[in-house]
Amino acid sequence: MAPKKAASKASKEVDEQLARYRAMRDFTMTAEPSGEDDASSGSGHGDSLPFVIQKHAATRLHYDFRLGWRGVLKSWAVTKGPSYYPGDKRLAVEVEDHPIAYGGFEGTIPKGQYGGGTVMVWDQGTWEPLVDVDEGLRTGKLSFTLHGKKLKGNWALVRMGRRTSKDRPNWLLIKEHDKYAHGVDAEPVTEAHPNSAITGRTMDQIAAAGDHVWGAEE
Ligand code: MN
Repeated sequence: MAPKKAASKASKEVDEQLARYRAMRDFTMTAEPSGEDDASSGSGHGDSLPFVIQKHAATRLHYDFRLGWRGVLKSWAVTKGPSYYPGDKRLAVEVEDHPIAYGGFEGTIPKGQYGGGTVMVWDQGTWEPLVDVDEGLRTGKLSFTLHGKKLKGNWALVRMGRRTSKDRPNWLLIKEHDKYAHGVDAEPVTEAHPNSAITGRTMDQIAAAGDHVWGAEE
């Protein structure tokens, strides 16, 4: 991890870069649910909220789990990625909010920049809170339904105690029991479906292309 000052400076640079692309594509528009999702949600909550997981080969491979809320992407870094087995409690380290437009980013971030490495849009879709989101973020218990291409059904994020106020809060990402849950012996979703949800590319293909793709969902 970069020192905080350097990180915030580089983060600002990335934000400025992102701003140039915002006019090109509105992630909240491309993340509209499919007709299938419309039929299954039917909860009357109204607005669909964007959800994305970015597989990120930085210093260590991890999965950035992001939920769009109040104009930003609330973000957690999940080292092992999500699991459909409810017995797996995956460590999800809370990280800084990201701009909504960042959720459409797939490509390479130059080495030396904050988050340098290869980024894949591993999953994308919408999410529906099952609790009051602001209260859930405050109390550390969030449950929600995911309508992604890979992740579906009900999930929970539960915050653990933090040791000091300086530590980034640790949460656990847990699959709840429902018809989508897998048994302990099932092939992990991260292995069964390793490639991009928007381009079908592997991490190696994204790295080799050296390009940027922004939420090309059509
Ligand atoms: Mn990351």
